[in-house]
Amino acid sequence: MTGERIPVYSPREIESIREAGRLVSRVLEEIGRMVRPGVTTAEMDREARRMIEDFGAKPAFPEVRQYPATLCTSINEEVVHGIPTDRKLQEGDIISIDCGLSKGGFYADKAITWAVGRVSEEARRLMDVTRRALDAAIAELREGAYLGDVCAAIQRTAERAGMSVVRDYTGHGIGRHLHEPPQIPNRGTPGEGPRLRRGMVLALEPMVNLGTWQVRVLSDNWTVVTLDRRLSAHFEHTVAVTRDGSDILTL
Ligand code: MG
Ligand code: MG
Repeated sequence: MTGERIPVYSPREIESIREAGRLVSRVLEEIGRMVRPGVTTAEMDREARRMIEDFGAKPAFPEVRQYPATLCTSINEEVVHGIPTDRKLQEGDIISIDCGLSKGGFYADKAITWAVGRVSEEARRLMDVTRRALDAAIAELREGAYLGDVCAAIQRTAERAGMSVVRDYTGHGIGRHLHEPPQIPNRGTPGEGPRLRRGMVLALEPMVNLGTWQVRVLSDNWTVVTLDRRLSAHFEHTVAVTRDGSDILTL
């Protein structure tokens, strides 16, 4: 996390990232409307790709190790990087959908976890805690804050609820590329790490597990699952640091 320069963007560049952020939000809003028992993740992926092409934008994930789809669709114990398939969603599932795109050379990245119909009380609580962890991280952003303040807020929110944060995957800077410095772990110590400057743009993305923090990658070399196969949730926003706070670019 040290040593690499964290890019700083001008107000004009941030408006370009916001344009990408608006588009990615529209995609996820539309895909969220499709979430119901019986729909397949491949159907959602096709719709997302169609929308992104209509926007004159490009799906970002295929640029990463030739990821084979537009969306990551991670169901239940799947943490991140679930590949869309013909699997049908079932009542009681939770599904984390992650989408990244670029428009005019600027990237935005966003993820939301949805309930499929009625879900268990613990699933609902997990989603609520994960969303609150993202809100808590965003609340720490401002010029002069430490990156560790942001990471610690995520960890604190999850652990106080008796849940754990995923350690093997992190948030990241974003802007001219999908992944830029810094890496943003979902755990940390206040007052540590680089200091934030206005114009930095960060993809904050808590991944919270009901049980163990440990994960493994399935034999498809992508899908990350919890080691104990208990539920995991994921929320992400692309956010700019401002003088006294933050500006969420994926609304
Ligand atoms: Mg993402
Ligand atoms: Mg991301």
